[in-house]
Amino acid sequence: MKSLVNRLFSLENGSLGLIFSGVIYCLAGFLGQSLLSLQPSNITLIWLPSGIALVMLLTWRLKALAYIFLASLVVNSPGMFVDAAPLKSLMHICVAALGDMLAPALGFLLLQAFLPSGTRNASDLLKFVLLAGVIPVLLSSLWLSANLAAGDYIPWASLPTMAQLFFFADILGILLVYQIYNGWLEPQAWVIGRWRHIALPIIGLPLFYMVGIYLDLGWLFYLIPPLLVVLAFELTRFYLGLLSSLSLLFIILATAHGFGVFVGESQAQTNTEMMAFVLSCALTLFGISLQHAQLHRSERDKLSAEKEAQLDPLSGLFNRRSFKPLLQALEAKAKAQSTSVCVAMLDIDNFKAINDTHGHSVGDRVIQSLAQILRNNCRSDDIAARLGGEEFALVLGDIGLAQAQPVLERIRSSFVDTPIAVAGDMIHCSVSIGLVENSQTAGIESLLQLADKALYRAKRQGKNRIVCFEAQ
Ligand code: GH3
Ligand code: MG
Ligand code: MG
Repeated sequence: MKSLVNRLFSLENGSLGLIFSGVIYCLAGFLGQSLLSLQPSNITLIWLPSGIALVMLLTWRLKALAYIFLASLVVNSPGMFVDAAPLKSLMHICVAALGDMLAPALGFLLLQAFLPSGTRNASDLLKFVLLAGVIPVLLSSLWLSANLAAGDYIPWASLPTMAQLFFFADILGILLVYQIYNGWLEPQAWVIGRWRHIALPIIGLPLFYMVGIYLDLGWLFYLIPPLLVVLAFELTRFYLGLLSSLSLLFIILATAHGFGVFVGESQAQTNTEMMAFVLSCALTLFGISLQHAQLHRSERDKLSAEKEAQLDPLSGLFNRRSFKPLLQALEAKAKAQSTSVCVAMLDIDNFKAINDTHGHSVGDRVIQSLAQILRNNCRSDDIAARLGGEEFALVLGDIGLAQAQPVLERIRSSFVDTPIAVAGDMIHCSVSIGLVENSQTAGIESLLQLADKALYRAKRQGKNRIVCFEAQ
C-alpha cells in the first residue's frame, strides 16, 4: 500500500502528487472556512493547508511553491474578492497567497538548515515547533492580518486579534498534518499490531463525542487526551497522528458550533481556551509518540546488535562464542524433558588444497555453500554453528541417532552433489562428520570431545563419511 502510494506520487517528477496535494490543500481550506470557523466572524480556527504546504515542500522541495500559491488563490478568492473593486481585491488575494506560502516556505528552509533529519526524538519537538511553527507563522500571521487591514477587510484595530487567530490556526495545522506525515515516513507505518487497537477508538471516540453532545457532558472532552495517550503506546505514529488529529478537529468543530466546555462569555475567550487546550494536547501527544518511537528504535537496535554479535559474518550461522550457551540451554531442556540430543561435528575435506589451488575466495564460497545446506536441513530449534575455519557443528534436539543419521547423510550427499563454479569449471567438495547422541550422564564438554573423536575417525577412514558414537 505504502509503496503504491509512493510510486503514484513520484510519477512524472511528482507533478501528479503535487496536483493531488494542491486539491487536498483547497479542500482542507474550504473545510476550515465552512465547518471549523468561528461564527459569525468566519475566521477559521485551524488552517490545515499550512501543514499540507509544509509536507508538499518537504516532499517535492521548492518546486511545490507554485502549486501552494495557486491553491491558496483558489481558497482565498471566494471570501476576499470584491465585485466593486476587482483589481484591488485581486491584489490583496495575491498578497494573501504569498503570505500563505511564506510560513511553510520559511519553515521548510529553517528545518533544512537546523533539523535536516526531521523529528526523530522527543528532544527534537521544541526545535521543530520553533523552526516550523512559531518563527515562520509569527511572520506570516502579521503579514496576512496587515494585508486584510490594508485591504479594508478588517479595521486596523483588530490586527492583533486577527494575527493571534492566524497564529494559532496555522501552528495547529502544521502540527497535526506534520505528525501524520512524520508517522508515515516510519518503517511499517501501516502495520496494525492488534486490530482492536484501531477498531476500538474508531468506534469508541465518535460514541464518546455523541454521548458528550447529547447528554450535554462537555467535560468528557477532557478525557480525550488520556485516551489518546494510551493509544500512543499501542499504535504506530501514523495512526496516532490520524486519530489525534480527527479527535482534536472534532473538539474544534463542536466549539465552533457553540458546544462544549470552552464556550465562554466572549468569542475571544472561547477561542483562546479551546486553542490552548487543543494545542497542548497536540504537543503532548506528539512528544509522547516521539518518545515511544525512540524507545522502540533503541530496543530494536540493541536486539539487532546482540543478534549480530551471535552470528558469524561469512556463513550467517552462529559463531563459536554463541554456540556453547545455546548448546547448554538445549541440553538442559533435553534433560528436563528426558529427550535426547544429537551433536554433529563437520569438517570440510582437503580444504587447504581447495584454498591453495583455487584461492581464498573460492574457499569462502565453499564454506557458504555448506552453511546453506546446513540451514536447509535443520529445524528452527536446531543449532547450526561455524566453530572456526572449515569446522561446523550441528545440534539436533529431541532426536535420537537413528533419526539424526539420515539428516546428516542428506547433508553430506547434498554437499558432494552441489558443485562450486570456479573459472569456467565445477569443483565438488566433501565433508566428514562425527555424530554422537548424548546420554543422561555425559556433560557438554565430553559430548563435544566425543563428536570430535568420531570426526577424527571419519577422516582416518577415508573422509566424506559419517561416523556415529553413542555417549556412555
Ligand atoms: P582435512 O581434510 O584433514 O580436514 O584437511 P584440511 O585441508 O581441510 O584441513 P586443515 O585444517 O589443514 O586446513 C584448514 C584450512 O582452512 C587452513 C586455513 O587456511 C583455511 N581457512 C580457515 N579459515 C578460513 C576462511 O575463513 N576462509 C577460507 N577460504 N579458508 C579458511
Ligand atoms: Mg578440513
Ligand atoms: Mg579443519
